[in-house]
Amino acid sequence: MRDLRLKIDLHVHTRYSHDSTTTLDEIVAYAKKRGLDGVAITDHDVVEGALKLVQKVKELVVIPGVEVTTSRGHVLALNITRPVPTELSPFETIQIIHEAGGIAVAAHPTVFYKGLRGHVDSNFDAVEVVNASAFPFFLSTYLSRKLAVRLDLPQTAGSDAHYASELGFAYTIVDAAPEVDEIVHAIKKGATVPCGKAIPWKLRLKRGYFGIKKKL
Ligand SMILES: [Zn+2]
Ligand SMILES: [Zn+2]
Repeated sequence: MRDLRLKIDLHVHTRYSHDSTTTLDEIVAYAKKRGLDGVAITDHDVVEGALKLVQKVKELVVIPGVEVTTSRGHVLALNITRPVPTELSPFETIQIIHEAGGIAVAAHPTVFYKGLRGHVDSNFDAVEVVNASAFPFFLSTYLSRKLAVRLDLPQTAGSDAHYASELGFAYTIVDAAPEVDEIVHAIKKGATVPCGKAIPWKLRLKRGYFGIKKKL
């Protein structure tokens, strides 16, 4: 039987995000280096980088997406090719994502300073359980997993990389053929295993070292 398990980092930023420096070439190079089969490009409120990478790359599955700023926290929209209005409620945001044919994932829902916290419900299609940039990592992973189980929602993972070297520290194993539609369908039905670890501190500190202002 064909092995359809794909290793995909479902939360990646590019330099088209206001707070990331990663070029599209670096995404491709690091995805290969980390043994990823694919990435979801989820820049803050813009889709330009995602669309450019979809055009540019054939040897990697690229899921176009966006990380939407809602009135209550961040929502990952996957399989989306146009921006989603910002600062709406999570409920309204999810509706718009669904109308556009995408799926809505609760991004780092239990991180204290930027999480959706009490605003995640079963309208979401999945919960991001492992986020390699989350702090404190183990507590937020534990709480997010608990939330996903309570709501009976599929579980995903992503690095939330804002710098190329952070790519792939967390990833989702998806049981699907390497096509965007198949992957999105598999996530929706819960054919996923969230995996990964926290981005090491020596890499995280570089964010400050380069003097890049990072708005979370
Ligand atoms: Zn976020
Ligand atoms: Zn992010």
